[in-house]
Amino acid sequence: MTECLFCKIRDGEVPADIIFEDDECLAFCDINPKAPVHFLVIPRRHIANLWDARNADEGLLGRIQLTIPKIAKEQGLDSGFRTVLNTGPGGHQEVYHIHYHVLGGGPFTGFN
Ligand code: 5GP
Ligand code: ZN
Repeated sequence: MTECLFCKIRDGEVPADIIFEDDECLAFCDINPKAPVHFLVIPRRHIANLWDARNADEGLLGRIQLTIPKIAKEQGLDSGFRTVLNTGPGGHQEVYHIHYHVLGGGPFTGFN
């Protein structure tokens, strides 16, 4: 049994509004959106954050970054988007399963 919230979302144990999935990653809407469109993209495999990422994760993280514009396009973010990845307490990381925030579609609120 995993205690990780995003592993539980991956495993269907916690509900989420999943907007994209493939064999390596999953994207779902942020529960507390800071923009009209705000979703999170995670690798299926648990990696806590960039501190935990290894050279062997280079391809995985690269492919996720290349998938983000495709998901953003599907979400209607034609004029662009912001991508954020928080690491550790100093980066205000709350959930320790690596995730890219993707925001757009209008004003951002309360995003530090
Ligand atoms: P962090 O601060 O770790 O970079 O961001 C964690 C994000 O996860 C926050 O934007 C927060 O709103 C979101 N979040 C926290 N709990 C849940 C949840 O149960 N479901 C979803 N979909 N998002 C969550
Ligand atoms: Zn996890």
